[in-house]
Amino acid sequence: MSGSRAMQAEVAVIGAGPAGCAAAIGLARGGCRVLLLDRAATARESVCGEFLGPAAVAALGRLGLDPGRLGAVPLRQARIGRGGREAGFALPFPAWALPRRVLDGALREAAAAAGVVLHTGLAVQGARPAGAGWAVQLPRGAVAARQVVLASGKHALRGHPRDGARQGWLGLKLHLEGGAAGEAVTLLPFAGGYAGLQPRPGGGATLCAALPGRAAGAAMAWAGDPWVRDPWVRDPWVRDPWAFLARVAAGSALGARLLAGARPAWERPLAIAGLPYGFRAAPVGPAGLYRVGDQAAVIPSFTGEGIGLALQSGLAAAAAILAGEAATEFQTRWQARIAGPMRWAGLGAWALRRAPGGLVAAARLAPAARLLARRTRLAAGG
Ligand SMILES: Cc1cc2nc3c(=O)[nH]c(=O)nc-3n(C[C@H](O)[C@H](O)[C@H](O)COP(=O)(O)OP(=O)(O)OC[C@H]3O[C@@H](n4cnc5c(N)ncnc54)[C@H](O)[C@@H]3O)c2cc1C
Repeated sequence: MSGSRAMQAEVAVIGAGPAGCAAAIGLARGGCRVLLLDRAATARESVCGEFLGPAAVAALGRLGLDPGRLGAVPLRQARIGRGGREAGFALPFPAWALPRRVLDGALREAAAAAGVVLHTGLAVQGARPAGAGWAVQLPRGAVAARQVVLASGKHALRGHPRDGARQGWLGLKLHLEGGAAGEAVTLLPFAGGYAGLQPRPGGGATLCAALPGRAAGAAMAWAGDPWVRDPWVRDPWVRDPWAFLARVAAGSALGARLLAGARPAWERPLAIAGLPYGFRAAPVGPAGLYRVGDQAAVIPSFTGEGIGLALQSGLAAAAAILAGEAATEFQTRWQARIAGPMRWAGLGAWALRRAPGGLVAAARLAPAARLLARRTRLAAGG
């Protein structure tokens, strides 16, 4: 779309990732006139390990989407390796691996089919209260809406910072040809962070890594590079896909074995900086603004629960708006619901960073590993 705009909607949803699409579909099915806005013209790859756990699968089911039909690979096992030690256990729930481009594309299509008006290729500039509702600012013109769902993911919208978010981590993602990912999700702590390895539909694998503050801080600023969504990644090994592979493989015998035959499918890893792991939005905010997905909370990524939280929070926000629940009440309920998984995920992320060998030892006790895998999940219902 281009040209000046003076559009109207009952609800404007900012961001067509999993959280925004789920909210928009839920609202449209409830009879709302919904406008869904995204700056990306089409669904694309994003820095994400692409693991779908039970909360994601349940939410997708409610949205009429089946990971198997979308071509996802079933995952049956979890593994972890550090140095010469390794452990593996059967996942205590069904899980899948599905490329984000495919998932986000299917969600956008489902939104359009539900009657959502989708405007893409438009970066929202801000949103402010106006009269009894909101004015959402576009590059040219504005949208008037009664309520706003803020689903812009890792990026804060101007005027709506994520107070208290610590901008610590750097995320990297690389698609691989070859490699031996198997039907498993594999956690590979290495010097400078941790990585997750998963199979891709049709062969190959996805390697996704998270680097905490200091390592990320040493690795910044590549302004103007289209591969990097944030312009501050500089460290050569972060830019070079072979060096990234070698760095992860050097962290464990398991990593070296699984990555032995792998080749980068991209000329560079995709990167995103400033990830505020552990962030939880304060329940109190402006009336009529519902934060969902990573705008409501950012769970450490080793859990593979971010997409599940995004989809479930979108559906929950839609139900709240349709029921006339105030944003503050919705936000309070949502934060209470995710408190347990966020706490356990924080503990797991700490162990991955500070005592990865201990985590491998714990994973050898399969019941303990399965307990952590369950505790970092969102409970059904609510
Ligand atoms: C390294 C890493 C690995 C991860 N691995 C996994 C995993 O394996 N499994 C899992 O479940 N989760 C994983 N996650 C987390 C998961 O990716 C996120 O939690 C999830 O994508 C959040 O969904 P969302 O809809 O809130 O945001 P996003 O998916 O980020 O979507 C936000 C959307 O908003 C749009 N947008 C942003 N700003 C604007 C604007 N101003 N105007 C218009 N549009 C805008 C963007 O283009 C985007 O489409 C991982 C995260 C990281 C960093």
